[in-house]
Order: sequence, then C-alpha cells, then structure tokens
Amino acid sequence: MNSEKLTTVAELGEFGLIDILTNDFEINQKTTIKGVGDDAAVIKGRAGFHTLVSTDLLIEGVHFDLTYTPLKHLGYKAAVVNFSDMAAMNGKPKQIVVGLGISAKYTVEALEELYKGIKMACKLYQVDFVGGDTSSSKAGLFISVTVIGEVEKPQITYRSGAAQGDLICASGDIGAAYIGLLVLEREKRVFKANPNMQPELSGNDYIIQRQLKPEARIDIVDQLREQKILPTSMIDISDGLASEILHLCKNSNTGCMIYEEKLTIDQQTYDVAREFNIVPTVAALNGGEDYELLFTIKQTDYEKIVKIKDVSVIGYMTEPENGKRLITVDNQAIDLKAQGWDGLKEREIDSALNG
Ligand SMILES: [Mg+2]
Repeated sequence: MNSEKLTTVAELGEFGLIDILTNDFEINQKTTIKGVGDDAAVIKGRAGFHTLVSTDLLIEGVHFDLTYTPLKHLGYKAAVVNFSDMAAMNGKPKQIVVGLGISAKYTVEALEELYKGIKMACKLYQVDFVGGDTSSSKAGLFISVTVIGEVEKPQITYRSGAAQGDLICASGDIGAAYIGLLVLEREKRVFKANPNMQPELSGNDYIIQRQLKPEARIDIVDQLREQKILPTSMIDISDGLASEILHLCKNSNTGCMIYEEKLTIDQQTYDVAREFNIVPTVAALNGGEDYELLFTIKQTDYEKIVKIKDVSVIGYMTEPENGKRLITVDNQAIDLKAQGWDGLKEREIDSALNG
C-alpha cells in the first residue's frame, strides 16, 4: 500500500463524488448533446425532438424500508421518481427498463407486488416497460430504473439558463414527504419496542402518501406549454428545496432571494412538524423527496404563471455576488445551505425521534 491519504466517500458527499468520477469522460459521439450534470442526459432524437435518459438506484435499507413500505408502492415510486427527472427537463417519460437485485428472502408473490406498482405507474403516465435484468443479491433488494424520455427541441430546459431577475417558482407543496417519513419511522420504533402496538397512522394520510406514493409533475409541464411559458431553468425537488435552488444558482451563475412566507407548506405537514419540534420551513427546505418542480421564468411571464393554480412564485434570481438567501417572515436574511437528502436522513431522523 502507498502512504497516500485515501478519501472516504462520506468526506466528498454524493455530488463531489459524481464530479470526481465523471469529470474526465470525453464526449465521442455527435449524438451526445449533454452528458452528466443535469436531471437527465440529452441525446439527439427523432426530428424535432431530443431524447432524454436518466437512471436511479434504490437500495433496501438506504432508500427504502420494507417494514413500512408496501412493495406495490415501492414499485410505483421507483418508476415515478425517474419520470420526475423527465419533467425536470421540461419533457415526458416514454419508456423504462428495470434492473433488480433480489435476495433469497423475496417470494415470487412479493416481486409480483413490486411489478404491479411499476405497472400502475406506467399505465397512469403512459410509459412503456421495455426491458431490464434481474440477478440474485447477497442481501436486500436493489432496484435500478432507467427512463427514456423526449422533449420538443425548443422546449428543453436545463439547470443553467436562469438570469438575474428571473422569478423562482415551485409547484405544489414541500416538506410533506419528509414529515411523512418521520411519522413512519416513529411508528416503526414503537412497533419494534412492542410488537402488539398497532401503528398510529390515521390523520397523517396526506404526508404518508407523499412519502410512499409521490407523483411526477408532468401536469405542470403540460400547463407550462398551454400558457406558452418556457422556463429559463428547471430541476425537480428530490433532495430538498435548498439543495435544488443551489444547483440552479451554480449552473446558471446567479444568486437568489427566496421568501419564507411564499413557501407552500400543507397544514398537516405544518402541524406534524411542530409535534416533532421541527420548524416547518426547515422541513420544507431540507426535507426532500417532494418531487415537485422548481423552475425560473422571465418576469414578463408573470401574468401567465399566476394562471397555473398549483405554482407559487417564491423569489427571484439575483447577481451571484448577492449570495443565496432566504428572507424569513421576520425579515432576517439567512444563507441557504445544501443539507440535502443523503446526509440529512439518518442523522436528522434520529434527532427528531429522540427529541
Ligand atoms: Mg432530478
């Protein structure tokens, strides 16, 4: 062994790791339009279109916990989170291929449930299941989904097109999936302590559904087309609003100003966050897995964007020198930090549940 200090993956974090592993790949094909660095790769498509490709790997014990995740929901979610990346490019999913690693504990019936969920998602989003691979695994379940999608050439939206003064918009509400996860983790711990206890999930239906069965906002892509709005930049919210807005700022070379009072947080998210002594805004900024769309538009599109019911304008892009800031309801300016999903998950869940 040499004495060079080796770097742990944990020191780098997910995005640092991706940078190091992928930065010196050359592009050899004329058909490759955009490689690593956005929600999907962009490849030359049929006349008038770009083809989009994205992939996601879900690992038991890291991305999902089968003590509270029905396999059908898991299959649905595995497909939908990939569809969401097509929406993030202002496009639509068309086909998926699914790879599975399966340990001996899984029965055929259990795997059929998983595929029922994938099938449901494909049917609802009109996506074709076109192949995949299965293998045995030493431990646990691995699900790899690759989605192929399409976008009309002039409609493609990257993370990098925002300019100073553009309005920042977010679809739907945020923070719910994370608070739903906390409820599920809480009930799992109660159940582990006393298996006779039944999980107390009633009254938390919305946030649990947001965690277990998210949707991809293809409907927002459709409405943007209807209103003839072309976003200047876009990303989907998988790792938390704060992390995603920083991606848009970095790629577009802008700063940003986000207003706490403009963030849409569902009442149930708000109430249950308070039960856990979590500031609801923190859940909204750092929670993740919302799969809503975060995008920027030109100011001149303001009159059009207000016609889309489920979209809020939450701030605007600034000069990069102004930093990336959140203005709180009591008018404090706070620097936005990318806590992100991976780093946050276990540590935060532990502290939220242990009080
Ligand atoms: Mg994404």
